[in-house]
Amino acid sequence: MSRIINISFSYKEYESLEELNADDQELIISARAAAGLAYAPYSKFMVGAAMRLESGRIVHGSNVENAAFPSGICAERTVIAGSVSNYPDDKPVALAIAAITEGGLPAEFVSPCGNCRQVIAEEEERTGRQIKIILSGKNKILVIDGVGSLLPLQFGRDSLRINHP
Ligand SMILES: [Zn+2]
Repeated sequence: MSRIINISFSYKEYESLEELNADDQELIISARAAAGLAYAPYSKFMVGAAMRLESGRIVHGSNVENAAFPSGICAERTVIAGSVSNYPDDKPVALAIAAITEGGLPAEFVSPCGNCRQVIAEEEERTGRQIKIILSGKNKILVIDGVGSLLPLQFGRDSLRINHP
């Protein structure tokens, strides 16, 4: 007998930066600054990510495109690679993502692509703690508790054990 299962999730939505706490405001401003450092000559879609670690340190990343398109990398994966490489024991607690287009800050928030959601999920699994995800546009900011809700039924370490007990 089949059943229909519904999955839903909650997030907080804000209309302006000032509604957030000081730490999250700082992280969004850092992500916007990082977007300005993106190397995006092809798409002109510049994305920045800023991640706060447990120590309070903020690390940055931006998208880095390449003429051979698959060789480019998103801001979210850049910041996680940098963080894991440089501060492997300093666990990420929050990740803010912002974009700049030719028209400036987009009104709507930008959301991580599927590849990046998977990498954020692995980082949560590696460190054993959720990463608060902050998606920011000019007129709307979303705060999401962990990547799980953006990646339901996710593939992770346990998925590999299904075939290799
Ligand atoms: Zn991505």
